[in-house]
Amino acid sequence: MGLYEDKRKRTHTPEGYELLTLESGHLEYDFHWHLGYCWSKFLAGLKEQRFLATKCSQCGAVYMLPRQVCGRCFLEMDEWVEVGPEGTLEGFTIVRFPYIDPNHGGMMQVPFTSIWVNLDGASTRMMHYCNEYDEKNLVVGSRLRAVWAEERTGSIHDVSHFEIIK
Ligand SMILES: [Zn+2]
Repeated sequence: MGLYEDKRKRTHTPEGYELLTLESGHLEYDFHWHLGYCWSKFLAGLKEQRFLATKCSQCGAVYMLPRQVCGRCFLEMDEWVEVGPEGTLEGFTIVRFPYIDPNHGGMMQVPFTSIWVNLDGASTRMMHYCNEYDEKNLVVGSRLRAVWAEERTGSIHDVSHFEIIK
């Protein structure tokens, strides 16, 4: 704990209390978690430039991102289908204010565009990034295509981003 550096050069409150700062220190830790069957298969597919989705045998819903149980029928799904790599823009947000990226603790590079994309053949949409930062060029319903990272490791970042098909 240290003394608060007030721009007005005050060291105490009007009541006589010291102006203090609390140093939170530095925190760093590694963590690991089990991805399970669905995410392991999905991420392995991304490494091969394939979007693997699960399909419900009862209602036919195709889940991208894949999940093990159908949210409509509560049925366990074991059928896998390939969707994309093209799709339709369903929504977007252009972020222009930087904030701390929880993936690495540094500041996010701005601007960036967060999107909802419905990959061809999927019943649900997934969130990712688009390399277009001008809202005049982003129209819901636009066609998009996945741009793959050169080096793929079995991560959601194996898809670098989506680009608008012109
Ligand atoms: Zn279903």
